[in-house]
Amino acid sequence: MKKLIEEQFDVVVIGAGPAGMMAAIRAAQKGARVALVDKKEEPGKKLLMAGGGRCNMTQDENNIVELSNLYKNGRFLLSAFGAFRPGNVREFFEGHGVPTKVEKSGRVFPVSDKGQDVLEALIKAAKENGITFLYKAHVVDFSLNSENEIVKIKLKKRELYPKNVIIATGGMSYPATGSMGDGYAWAEKMGHKIIEPKPVLVPIKTTDDWVGELQGVSVSSVSISVFQHNKKQFSDSGDLMFAHFGLSGPLALNMSRGIGKVLAKDESDIKLVIDLKPYLSAEQLDEIVRKDFERNADKKLNNCLADVFSPKLLDFLFRYSGLDLEKHAAKISRKERMHLVNLFKHLEMNLDSLFGFDRAMVTSGGVSTKEIDSKTMKSRIVKNLFFAGEVLDADGPTGGYNLQLCWSTGFLAGESAAKNL
Ligand SMILES: Cc1cc2nc3c(=O)[nH]c(=O)nc-3n(C[C@H](O)[C@H](O)[C@H](O)COP(=O)(O)OP(=O)(O)OC[C@H]3O[C@@H](n4cnc5c(N)ncnc54)[C@H](O)[C@@H]3O)c2cc1C
Repeated sequence: MKKLIEEQFDVVVIGAGPAGMMAAIRAAQKGARVALVDKKEEPGKKLLMAGGGRCNMTQDENNIVELSNLYKNGRFLLSAFGAFRPGNVREFFEGHGVPTKVEKSGRVFPVSDKGQDVLEALIKAAKENGITFLYKAHVVDFSLNSENEIVKIKLKKRELYPKNVIIATGGMSYPATGSMGDGYAWAEKMGHKIIEPKPVLVPIKTTDDWVGELQGVSVSSVSISVFQHNKKQFSDSGDLMFAHFGLSGPLALNMSRGIGKVLAKDESDIKLVIDLKPYLSAEQLDEIVRKDFERNADKKLNNCLADVFSPKLLDFLFRYSGLDLEKHAAKISRKERMHLVNLFKHLEMNLDSLFGFDRAMVTSGGVSTKEIDSKTMKSRIVKNLFFAGEVLDADGPTGGYNLQLCWSTGFLAGESAAKNL
């Protein structure tokens, strides 16, 4: 069949998410003729969901070794982070009219709090660099020649003839955004190993009936320890939100990564013990409670400790403690006080399960990093194939880390593909 000139590209990027858009922009900046292909009718559907629509675009961390330590397969990501650091990401967006700001825990957002601005900056940069956008363009298969090079990309309604291909089709969560794991099947067919994709950064379901009473309560800087058969597995700290089903918020999402590993070995008898005041020892907390009771000696128990916890949480904790709430603070015994302090430091919950792909922010697993050159993002198996973004077997915690992975691997894949001409 005759190849039409408009169907020949130096670089075809499949997937117009953050990784694919950055890859396309960088390849075009380096002089390549680039097509950006996506099966949806518009780009960046998942990007618009990021950070609840505010887009936590990266982290305020430029030490790439520290950064990489927080990721699965972080060592593999080092070169990509070196090529395009969090600081470069901020420079890129600021240079395209999106000023950025740093919030708690180093989370970087656009000053406007609008993820839409981030997406529009990418689209503008792509257009400025002459990238051809092909939407509603569903890639289904590839043809390779005897040299193990992709010579043709088969879409549902047309064919493209690429010199290089970048697969940036994302993971498997929130499939309505277009990420349905298509890239894994292609990579596997072309000889790549796929590490089983699993949902990560998911909320946690617990079996405790009372958790619904705390729905919507947020607590900052608490810690949770995970126990199985009464043996401590690991712990972490951060900001938590109670939901009607159990736990959400950054701490729960991050801990789901570790809990998933514990569950993979044994699903039984897992407890989560929340320390609501991890920065105070039991003695220090008791001292605070004792002084509060002294000051409020004439008040009933449920009118005390207003400075220690928010009203809804406090109300729950008092009721859960089983103590007589009508009792005046002066009458609370040391034993009763210690019972309260113990509850504040050991609020116990029982794990039910983790949510699945329908609620996962990220997919862990994907195209094995062993068969990809970390310095270029190029396949070690197919000569003109590159990977970028969540399709790779690499993932990080919440806080802008997963988008940073997309920007960095996208940038490096785009640059390398443009050089591979
Ligand atoms: C609710 C939510 C909130 C999040 N918040 C944050 C956050 O604040 N900060 C952060 O760092 N990360 C966040 N993440 C994670 C982050 O959004 C993802 O890691 C990131 O979008 C992955 O980018 P990607 O480019 O690899 O893939 P995707 O964004 O998934 O894009 C893949 C693209 O490939 C296209 N595609 C797939 N198959 C085909 C095919 N066969 N043919 C053509 N096109 C195809 C899809 O249509 C899609 O557009 C969040 C995720 C979710 C779900």
